[in-house]
Amino acid sequence: MTERIVTGTAREEDLSSEGGLRPRRLDEYIGQEKVKENLSIGMEAARQRGEPFDHVLLYGPPGLGKTTLARIIAAEMEANIRVTSGPAIERPGDMASILTQLAAGDVLFIDEIHRLGKVVEEILYPAMEEYSLSWVMGKGLSAQSINLKVEPFTLVGATTRYAMLSPPLRDRFGTVYRLDFYDQPAMEAIVERSARITGVPIDREGVVEIARRGRGTPRVANRLLRRVRDYAQVRADGSVTAEVAAKALALLQVDRLGLDELDDRLLRTIAEKYDGGPVGLETLAASIGEESDTIMDVYEPYLMKLGFLARTPRGRVATKLAYAHLELDYPAKLDRQQPSLWEGDGGGS
Ligand code: ADP
Repeated sequence: MTERIVTGTAREEDLSSEGGLRPRRLDEYIGQEKVKENLSIGMEAARQRGEPFDHVLLYGPPGLGKTTLARIIAAEMEANIRVTSGPAIERPGDMASILTQLAAGDVLFIDEIHRLGKVVEEILYPAMEEYSLSWVMGKGLSAQSINLKVEPFTLVGATTRYAMLSPPLRDRFGTVYRLDFYDQPAMEAIVERSARITGVPIDREGVVEIARRGRGTPRVANRLLRRVRDYAQVRADGSVTAEVAAKALALLQVDRLGLDELDDRLLRTIAEKYDGGPVGLETLAASIGEESDTIMDVYEPYLMKLGFLARTPRGRVATKLAYAHLELDYPAKLDRQQPSLWEGDGGGS
């Protein structure tokens, strides 16, 4: 994958600093008000009943705070958390061993849960439902199925791809929350908080500028803040103003909306090479030399949020807004064509 300054996916440089910036309790977690309120009610009720919290599925683009929420749930429930990920659990035995080692009330966090293999996933079903798992001992004629007990636990699953989760797994979660990109006030609060914790002198306009270019994604905003801080230290007097932030981010090729050269290339490819689309995901991926999964999980959600790109049954389309942003003339023929793309099966035209 191409290394981008604006990717929501964790990069090497984020790992050392994120620990200190991660909100630890629900009241420190900025934004996502509905999710927070529902979680807080659910956790309170579970605590009153002395039960573990219901299994939760969190989904949304990378960097929006899914792992952070899982840790907060454990902290608020005064429980231990065990962190793993779909691709890390390769065999059914690995899953069985993780489950049987959980203590009562523990939180099990599985990131990228859509990437669990089918057989591994099936071990989870009875564990989630009735805290047990059946395990086959021995081979051939002497094989015996035994039932093992699992302590009552809370599974927190995270995924960037809700649609890729199998329906039986989906159904076993008590609640499903979709995390959305953060709005400007929430992004500003996040930048302010991070600047305070890391001791970066920053004025109000500096905060606004970084927040605006952070793609509605806390991880990106925190990363931009670090880069701007370096710039301020070396090229200015150490404090971050709107001007310093704008100069530093222009140097990093992050534009006013948080788009970088790759977003630009993607939109231009659709506009210039494919006449505005529709163009299929695979074709697009090959044209810009990027993996289709990365395009889908990392680039597209934010471009769709801005209204620059649309997914239609026949492929990706660059919108009128995208043309305006790229300062290209919007072809008159698209004005007539695009509405029909939305008719569903694409038939008729
Ligand atoms: P995900 O698991 O969705 O990829 P993370 O939970 O790892 O995202 O969040 C990335 C970073 O963004 C965290 O380390 C934290 O510093 C910051 N962050 C995420 N959500 C929030 C929030 N609501 N308030 C403040 N900071 C946040």
